[in-house]
Order: sequence, then C-alpha cells, then structure tokens
Amino acid sequence: MSRIFINYRRQDSEGYVGRLYDHLTRHFKREDVFMDVDSIPPGADFMQVLEDAVAACQVFIAVIGPNWLHMQDEAGNRRLDQWNDFVRIEIASALKTNKLVIPVLVGRARMPSPQELPEEIAALARRNAFELSHTHFAFDIDKLVSAIQSVILPQATAKPFADSETLRKKQAALKAVRDDLVNATNSPLYQYRVENRYFPVLGEGNPDARILFIGEAPGQKEVEQGRPFCGPSGEVLDEMLRSINLAREDVYLTNILMDRPPEKRDPNQAEIAFYTPFVDRIIDIIQPTVIAPLGRFAMEYLLKKLDLPEKNGKISQLHGRLIKARIHYGEIHVVPLYHPAVVLYSAGAKDTLRKDFQKLKLFI
Ligand code: URA
Repeated sequence: MSRIFINYRRQDSEGYVGRLYDHLTRHFKREDVFMDVDSIPPGADFMQVLEDAVAACQVFIAVIGPNWLHMQDEAGNRRLDQWNDFVRIEIASALKTNKLVIPVLVGRARMPSPQELPEEIAALARRNAFELSHTHFAFDIDKLVSAIQSVILPQATAKPFADSETLRKKQAALKAVRDDLVNATNSPLYQYRVENRYFPVLGEGNPDARILFIGEAPGQKEVEQGRPFCGPSGEVLDEMLRSINLAREDVYLTNILMDRPPEKRDPNQAEIAFYTPFVDRIIDIIQPTVIAPLGRFAMEYLLKKLDLPEKNGKISQLHGRLIKARIHYGEIHVVPLYHPAVVLYSAGAKDTLRKDFQKLKLFI
C-alpha cells in the first residue's frame, strides 16, 4: 500500500502535481506514492480504491492550486460542495482518520479560511501549509521531501508481535525488576515511602509494547495504588491514547522516578541516578521501537543516555520530533512529548499534545 497520498484537482494543478510526483518518486519508491491517474487499474471501483489508499497512507498531501476553492461544474455549483466530490471525500477521510495532512499550495494559491470550506474539511485550514513556488520548485520540493522523510517510518523498524513464550519471559523479567524495586531499601525515597505506606510504582502495560512512555514521577493517587498515571495526568494520557486508537494495554507506562518525592517537588539528580537503572532494565526487556519521554526530566535522561546531538535541546524545541537513535537491540525513535500535566495548567497545550501524539501513529 502507498504511504504518500497525493490529493489534487486535475483542472487546477495537474502540471504541478506531475512534477511533484516525479520528484517524490526519486526519493521514495514508486509504489509508495499514490496518485490516481497512475495507480487505479482500469475497471476498479474508483471510490473504494481511493478510500483504501487514504486509509493506508501515512502522509496525505492536499495540493491546492489557484482555482481549487471556487471551481464549479457545468451547472455553476461549487465542486467542493457536491456529495461525490472526490477531493473533499478524500480530505475528510484523511482528517477523520487522523492522518498527517499537509496542504501544499501551488500557483500562488492561498490557504482557504475555515469559513470558506465545507464543514467536514474545515479543519484543513488549521494544518500548516507548504508552498511550492514556480521559481524555487526544486528547493521547495527538497524541503517537502525532508518533512515527509522525518515522519515516514522505514518499514524495517516495525516490530513483529512476540509469541506467548517470549511474552511470558518478558513478564517474568519485569516482575524481577519490580521485586528489586520493592526491596530497594537504599533508595533516597524509601524512608518516605515506608513512613507514608506508599507503594513503589514500577510501571504497567504490554511487556512487548512498541511504544514505551516514560513520565516523571508517580503522584499521590499513583503511590496509593501502585500504578502509574491513574490520577489527573493519567486521564489526559488516556484521552491522548484514545485519539490515536490505542489503549493502555497496547503500550507500557513507567516513570523516571518510581517513588513519589515529597511535596510534589521536581526530581533531583540523586533520585534520577538511583531510579534510572530500573528504567534501563525496563527498556532492555520491552525493547520498544519508540520511546516517548513525557516532560523534560525523562527527555533529558534519554537523550543523554543515547548520546544524541539533541541532548542539550529544550522540550519546547524538541516536542513532537521523531529522533532516530541506535540502541543495543537496533534502531529506535525517540519522540519527546510534553508531560500530560501541562494540559491541566494550560488549555492551549492540549492541541499541541494531541498533534504530537499523532506522530506516534506512524509506529502502530
Ligand atoms: N505524573 C507522572 O509523571 N507519572 C505518573 O505516573 C503520574 C503523574
């Protein structure tokens, strides 16, 4: 199935799209780029092929030319408003299924406002657009290609599902880590844990998950129950997972600290140094293809551990980026995300977090 879908109106942008297709197929395999004229076999059900192709793609490019918005049929009705307009149907389907949708402006077209669009595709107006200019076509295309390359997942990194014997071994290995944590009387937070009758919180989820989330530290609810992310931040995290059709059982959740620090304070260096070997053991057992640190403490730890060039970057710069890294069991991606708690303090952060979560869809 093709991973890049080009949506366009022939009478509006055919010339540009031909050039775009030629350039993209120099950087990606021909079968990775779907463009109707080339890919729909004669006699096939046109609508079904289009829907299947949208469903299978990772990146959806909506090419918008100068006449895209107002183009009419012979009766003078706007094409975009018609029930069977394939341009609108495909865009609506890509938006509904949370694809990465990139509007590409050609022929000096401008981005339409939400009010100018049919309601089901009004969200297109909020997607950051990319301009392909006539004079800088090759340069602009290179930028578009890098943007696509940064999100297209090489097929080879997809992780096969483990058999039941492997799952059993992984579960047993995680239990051994939990036992060591419970008995870690030398932990800087052990005394505090015992005095308050709190539980340590190792983690929870699929022992063979493709995606491992690493938060900061358990909060009050978490140490009362011994489970990560079961309080207010957990509610936000659950909502974000649902937005990409994942459940907790599909992923693994842990934290950079496994006991609660007093008075909700930030983790300190001694605590991070103590608990991160437990985090490392979890990584080694699960062997995720994606590690998503939630918040700056987990992000800093991970980028330094993997000695990545981004290791001194700030979360405000790196959130939502797909950072390739090598670890002893192969290639992984680190995807730094804001901590879900930011949504509890800043309503605007929710949109950013939701958008960043979309990137994880490339790995599931
Ligand atoms: N915040 C975290 O970082 N981890 C949790 O488990 C809960 C809240």
